[in-house]
Amino acid sequence: MSQRTLIIVKPDAVKKNAIGQILARFEKEGLRIVAARMVYLSKREAEGFYQVHRERPFFGSLTDFMSSGPCFPVVLEGGEETIPKVRAILGATDPAQADEGTLRKQFATNIERNAVHGSDGPETAATEISYFFRGLEL
Ligand code: GDP
Repeated sequence: MSQRTLIIVKPDAVKKNAIGQILARFEKEGLRIVAARMVYLSKREAEGFYQVHRERPFFGSLTDFMSSGPCFPVVLEGGEETIPKVRAILGATDPAQADEGTLRKQFATNIERNAVHGSDGPETAATEISYFFRGLEL
């Protein structure tokens, strides 16, 4: 069955005018855009999205960043291995550790402002997709 995943072009990459380049890369790799929208998260909404990280020391800073400007969530689909495929295109969380040719290597500023989010598994993907999109939009 074809997997779906959620990516978010984060506020740093939106500010850099990089939405188009990031989506073009996914399309070039054979992924299809199922749904997309621009959203300006409130602090509470950013906290809701990153609930799993609420105990982490960077939670406050991360949710400040994610609510500092508009971001661009996108649902992608591209076969049975969509989730690992997208994660590979993103590269490591910390751009200093990311391989050449990955989106984070190209666009991220630092470990927090790392340009693009990607779901880390099928269950997370389902939860994250429904955080931003209604069934009708998919
Ligand atoms: P991901 O799956 O690669 O996005 O990484 P995680 O799920 O571990 O972390 C979620 C997000 O929190 C990352 O994409 C970063 O934006 C941020 N983050 C992760 N680790 C750190 C850290 O050590 N410091 C800060 N400030 N932010 C971090």
